[in-house]
Amino acid sequence: MRVETKLVHAGEPRPRHERAVTMPIYQSSTFEYAGATDYHDIQYIRLNNTPNHVALHAKIAALEGTEQALVAASGMAAISSTLLSLLSAGDHVLAHDGLYGGTFDLLTQDLPRLGITCTFVDASRPETWAAHATPRTRVFYVETITNPLVQVVALDEVARFARERGITSVIDNTVATPINYRPAEHGFDLVVHSATKYLNGHNDIVAGAVAGRAELVSAVKHKLDHLGGSLDPHACFLLHRGLKTLAVRVRHQCQSALELAGYLARHPQVAAVHYPGLERHPHHARARQWFAGAGGLLSFELTGGAAAAEQMFRRLTLPLVAPSLGGPETLITRPATTSHAGLPADIRRRQGITDGLIRLSVGLESTQDLIDDFAAALG
Ligand code: PLP
Repeated sequence: MRVETKLVHAGEPRPRHERAVTMPIYQSSTFEYAGATDYHDIQYIRLNNTPNHVALHAKIAALEGTEQALVAASGMAAISSTLLSLLSAGDHVLAHDGLYGGTFDLLTQDLPRLGITCTFVDASRPETWAAHATPRTRVFYVETITNPLVQVVALDEVARFARERGITSVIDNTVATPINYRPAEHGFDLVVHSATKYLNGHNDIVAGAVAGRAELVSAVKHKLDHLGGSLDPHACFLLHRGLKTLAVRVRHQCQSALELAGYLARHPQVAAVHYPGLERHPHHARARQWFAGAGGLLSFELTGGAAAAEQMFRRLTLPLVAPSLGGPETLITRPATTSHAGLPADIRRRQGITDGLIRLSVGLESTQDLIDDFAAALG
């Protein structure tokens, strides 16, 4: 099956439950005992094994091309359970310097309290990594397309470096989605998602996902079962419904983002545009080589900085000023005041997240209407 067909048919129960074409919601916390001998097989929502979980797990595993997958109550539940299943006191993580703010906080504030340390490296420069790896390095953590600067690091090298040293490579594939890039095909061990974003795609739930080899995903599931970050069946239903249209949504968003990035790059009031689909982006060659599309997320700066950005926000009529990304509504935000506000100002600056940086998550509106709206707001 090709990916569009998997989105619709993979993981669906056969035969359909009660002949329902659409997977119904099993809003039942517990299920009658059916002879399970392992605690984790007792059917209970927290144990991530109700019919809604099972169908979603199979669909996401098919999409990412992995043996197994797991959904979680949020992207952060997926990421924290994954890292806690892989790491113990004394272990060390290599991570790209430029991760999502919540993941950065987990690595720099929570995990050190458990005796787990992290070194941030430039994942675009493989020659610098060996000096930072230690015998206790267990995880190399990167994002496929970083948020908000949309960098594409040396992904193949990360997977190879980790494999050669027995390190588990973990990649956050939220912004790329399995429509544009399937990390397991490039040698990554575990894929995590904020399914809140493109996978669900409707700005109406918070969810997460993990995909990878069976033994790794089972270990994450056991951790998640204990920590309690399971996805409610109703949210499972919405994520399941959202996934079916992932390919058509993401392709429209990629095309629209490319056109908007091109328009903004030509605008005299725009000082810089970051979008890996643009030839002038420093990582364009990687994006062209590995990705089916360069994604629906871009960032840019105005010549007038943060004040001009705020003025433009007030004038725009279609994009909503809000954090998050990947939904039908185009969302615009300044990461320095939202998604990355928790990062110390000097680290934000080091990573290139200036106060004036604007992040744009391109939605499903007409591309021309969005361009017209930006033209009027900037004018
Ligand atoms: N990973 C990335 C790349 C994100 O952008 C986000 C949220 O913005 C997360 C993870 C965390 O996901 P959630 O908000 O679903 O917990």
